[in-house]
Formats: sequence, structure tokens, C-alpha cells
Amino acid sequence: MKVNMLDLSEQYKVLKDEIIESLDSVMSSSQFILGDNVKKLESNVAEYSNTTNGIGVANGSDAIHIALQAAGIKTGDEVITTSFTFFATGGAIVRAGATPVYVDIDPITFNIDPTKIEAAITDKTKAIIPVHLYGQMADMEAIKAIADKYKIIIIEDAAQAIGSRQNGKTVGEIGTAATYSFFPTKNLGAYGDAGMIITNNDELAEQARVIRVHGSKPKYYHHVLGYNSRLDEMQAAILNVKFSHLEKWSDDRRRHAAVYTKLLNEKLSDVIQTPIVKEGNHHVFHQYTLRVPNRDDLQRFLKEQGIATMIYYPMPLHLQPVFEDLGYVEGDLLETEKAAKEAISLPMYPELPREHQEYVVKKIVEFYS
Ligand SMILES: *Cc1c(COP(=O)(O)O)cnc(C)c1O
Repeated sequence: MKVNMLDLSEQYKVLKDEIIESLDSVMSSSQFILGDNVKKLESNVAEYSNTTNGIGVANGSDAIHIALQAAGIKTGDEVITTSFTFFATGGAIVRAGATPVYVDIDPITFNIDPTKIEAAITDKTKAIIPVHLYGQMADMEAIKAIADKYKIIIIEDAAQAIGSRQNGKTVGEIGTAATYSFFPTKNLGAYGDAGMIITNNDELAEQARVIRVHGSKPKYYHHVLGYNSRLDEMQAAILNVKFSHLEKWSDDRRRHAAVYTKLLNEKLSDVIQTPIVKEGNHHVFHQYTLRVPNRDDLQRFLKEQGIATMIYYPMPLHLQPVFEDLGYVEGDLLETEKAAKEAISLPMYPELPREHQEYVVKKIVEFYS
């Protein structure tokens, strides 16, 4: 049997007619940039996130960068974040001119550990970027309490967590702003690159709208340095079709996660650690990630059995060569470094067949026995 990490073709089969129709209407209208499809997506996603503004941009990395810049983050500022994330989180901070300050993670959720944030705050700290890794929100109430105490802002990197909730609050409701990625493999995926900033802060939203069009306002007059970072109409048209399915897809992901957890814990509960959903969290399982011993051997074995797995992420940001100047060394963030050696993500997507899940679990059990 061949088991892929994800398979987008099943979904396309179901949506094909609607998507082709929506693309045809964009091409017939000849409105390709910042038209009605982008507006509709912005308002749908903002409303879904209990926020008043959605600003479509070219990708999720630009969304973080533009949100930081729109919030006034600049050269010399420090931004606290997690090292256990995709490169873009740290990259966006540096691109905004600021310095990333990496804080260790909570081993239970893999998200930034709020109890370690205060020690990292200096008089240069201007923002915290929690990343809601794998689809589970970081502890936003604790992070908000710290942000309020020190008068710093929160930009939530919600690239993996659209639809995620915590104690009744959605992504972006507590933070100053949140950012989404619509990269094809994300829970709401375009057929190319796309991203969005959502926020209740009208001033930040207005700045972000200006920055995504070269800082132009009124047209051809530039008071801030922006660049070209727009979500285009074709991607928005596709995303509008997909958006109405998102809640169901998240439910399907949660159902698959429950199946994996049940089957794995029947046989291996004292060998591996299945994902832990903290009380009050509504996890959308962008990834289903285990902690395991002999991780690399397990991955090799599964590959030989036709099963794809992924390591998110094998090298934490504080140890990346490009950030060498920041001065971190191995041993600085122990929980992060441990997670980078133990984490492995199993195939996960809404259409994942039950037989694939059973086969994956059977092979993992075989490996450890
Ligand atoms: C995917 C991702 C991004 C970047 O999004 P792109 O759309 O690929 O630029 C940023 N942060 C995290 C945590 C991500 O998973």
C-alpha cells in the first residue's frame, strides 16, 4: 500500500465544477487584482475569525512581515517568538528590521511556553508572535496577560490554525492581529500562494492595506515603504469555493486524529506520545504529530513500507545558520531541541482513508515490537 502525507486530488474531484466555474468568471470579468473575490474572502475570513478586518496578501510569510510593519515594528525592536516553527516566523521578524528573541516551548503543546516569556522581555521588546503549531492554539490568556503588563502587542502566526479556538475565542480575537497562510497544503489551501492578516485594529488594517500596494495612498503618493504583496482574484475565487467546506474538513481531521490516537494507544501508550489537546482547546489538526523514540529509524522504516511522514521541524530556528549572528548555541532551548529530535507527523488530510490509518498504525506497532 502507498500512503501519502496528503492527497489534494480527492478534494479537487469533488470541487472541480465549482472551481472551474469560479475561475471562468474571473477570467471573463478581466478583474485580476483586488476585486470582488478578494473582498468576499476577506470579509468571510474576518467574520469567521470574529474580527472586523481581513487584508489579503501574497502569502503567509508576507502576512507576518506586513502585520509587524503595519503595527510599527522597526529596526532595533525585539520580537519574542518560538524557535520551533517554520522559518517564515523568524524570517518575517528580521525582514521587518527587528531582532527575533527565541523562547522555549511547552513540551505538551509544542507551543511557546508563556512561563518563559517574561524572562526574555527587555525595554526593546515590542511584540510577541505565538505560533499555533499543528493547529492547536498557544496559551493566549497567559500571553495576553504578559503583553498587557508590558504594553507589547501580539501578532498570532495562525498559518496552521485557521478555525482553531480556545475557551470560546477564535484565532485573532485576543491578539492585536493574526496571520493566515493559504499555501496549498494548509487547512484552507489555494492553488498557489496566498495569505491574509485579520485584525480588530482598524488603524493596523489600514496600514497593512497601504503596505500591500507599495505604500501607495492616495495612488502614486508614498508615505511608507510598501511592496507588491496582494492576494490575486484567481486564488481568492478558489478559496471562496473551498471556504464553505472548511468547518467540515476540520471535523474530518479531528475524527482522523481520534482514530490514530485510539489505535496507537491500544498498543503503544507506554512507548510513544500521541498529541495532547489541552482543556479548552479546539484543535484543527493541521498536523497529527507524535513524539517517538528512534524517530529517524521509524521514518526510514515507514518509508520502506510505502508510508510518507514528515518532520516539522528538524532544525529549530535558533540553530539555523542564517541566524548565527543572534548568538544562540545548542543547549539554549532544551525543550525545543528535544522536540526537534522526537517529533514526527503522520499522514493527515480530510479525505484520509481509514484503511490508510490502520496500515500506518500497524506498521508503527510492527516497528516497535
Ligand atoms: C506555512 C507557514 C508560514 C508561511 O506561509 P507561506 O504562505 O508559505 O508564506 C508561516 N508560519 C507557519 C507556522 C507556517 O506553517
